[in-house]
Amino acid sequence: MTSRLVQSEALLVRAVPYGESDIVATFFCAQGGKIAAMARSARKSSKRFGGALEPFHTIAVTLQDRGRELTVLTEARIVRVRAGIATKLESVDAAGSALRWTRDLCPPRTEEQGAWSALAELLDALDEGKNEPKIELAFFAMRLLSEVGYALELDRCLMCGKACPDDKPARIDPARGGIVCLSCGGARLQIGARLRQAARDMQRGVRAEISSEEATDVLKLAELAMAAHADVGA
Ligand SMILES: [Zn+2]
Repeated sequence: MTSRLVQSEALLVRAVPYGESDIVATFFCAQGGKIAAMARSARKSSKRFGGALEPFHTIAVTLQDRGRELTVLTEARIVRVRAGIATKLESVDAAGSALRWTRDLCPPRTEEQGAWSALAELLDALDEGKNEPKIELAFFAMRLLSEVGYALELDRCLMCGKACPDDKPARIDPARGGIVCLSCGGARLQIGARLRQAARDMQRGVRAEISSEEATDVLKLAELAMAAHADVGA
C-alpha cells in the first residue's frame, strides 16, 4: 500500500469525537487544502498532540496519507498562537464563522492558497484586535468568495450584460451570483453605489473603509452567496 506524508501548516476547521478516545479532525492546510484526519487517542491523553488541536492557532501537522478519505494525524504542534481572539466574544464568533465558511466552501484536497492567506490574515487581525471584528469578517467573506471562484458579479447584469453605472444602486441576487437589472426582473436586495464599490474592492483583496452598518450589509450579501454554494456537511 502506498503511503505518503503530508506536512503543512494548518487550521483546525472541525473536530468530531470518535469512539472512546479519538477525534476526527478536519484541517484546512496551506499545502493540500481541506484534509480530514483521524487523531487517535486525542481525547484520552492531552499529551498526545500537546493540546494543539484547537481552532484559531496555526498548527504544523504531519498526516499519513494512504489515499483514503481519512488520513492519520501523526504529529501536531502550534506554531502561531492567537490567544487574543479568545479574549473577546465578538472575535471568537467572527473567527468561528470564518473557519466554518472555509470548511463549507473549499472542496476536499484542493489547495487554496488565496483562501489560506485570507483566513490567516483575518485570524491575525482578530488576534491583534485593532479593528471591529465584524468589519474584518466582512472583508474576509468577500475575499473568500472570490478566492474560491464564487465572486459576485457587481459590475453588470448577469442576465443581459448591461453595465451598472458606478453612481447607481444595484439590485443583487446573491444566490444567482450578482446583479439582476430591473429590466431583467430585478432582485429583492438593493445596495447603494458606495457599498457596491466597496464590496467590489474587497473581492479583489483591497481593504475598503466601511462602517459597522455597512459591514452588516456586506455580510448579509456574502452569507446569501455562500449559502448557494456551501457544501454543508462536507
Ligand atoms: Zn439585465
